[in-house]
Amino acid sequence: MNLSADLTSAAAQEFVREIEESSGEDIAACYQCGKCTAGCPLAFAMDLDPARVMRLVQLGQREMVLQSHTIWLCASCETCTTRCPQEVDVARVMDALRRLAREEGYTAAEREVALFNENFLRNVCARGRVHELELVLRQNLRSGHLFRDAGKGPLMLAKGKFSLRVPKTKEVTAIWRIFENLEKRRGEKA
Ligand code: SF4
Ligand code: SF4
Repeated sequence: MNLSADLTSAAAQEFVREIEESSGEDIAACYQCGKCTAGCPLAFAMDLDPARVMRLVQLGQREMVLQSHTIWLCASCETCTTRCPQEVDVARVMDALRRLAREEGYTAAEREVALFNENFLRNVCARGRVHELELVLRQNLRSGHLFRDAGKGPLMLAKGKFSLRVPKTKEVTAIWRIFENLEKRRGEKA
């Protein structure tokens, strides 16, 4: 692995600072025991395992980490977080990396996952909770796979996994406020 950044460079330190601020975690606390990786149910599919992601963040390897498939494949199951002897919330670090990758346009690694994230949030913002049928239709439409899994639809409707009824949430205005506050914070940062 070619590590181009030097740990002491300003850019490397800035990356560590950004991730620490966004995740609230102490990146230096990781001592590379590998317990997060050993427990991660998705490590087999990742290009960088969770412990390696932590090490690369410590080294300020911005490009390598933000371009990885790993941050999009992470399912936020928090197994790594519960196993870490240093109490590093690795799942929160993964979240912070996804946010940064999205803000900076690094979504090519798993374009469909990034698209799903976006569609999911839009759906929650509009309805106050997820409307599964609308989410699936939007995902298929925007990803260019209009009829993907279409055959499963009737069975899922019959089993009550999907509903044609649009959900109504009383707290939808509270949800809107959360999204508004997020937008405001993003605007302040920019
Ligand atoms: S939160 Fe992500 S990195 Fe951690 S164990 Fe689950 S899938 Fe793996
Ligand atoms: S379990 Fe914690 S200390 Fe061990 S490698 Fe993972 S993040 Fe680092």
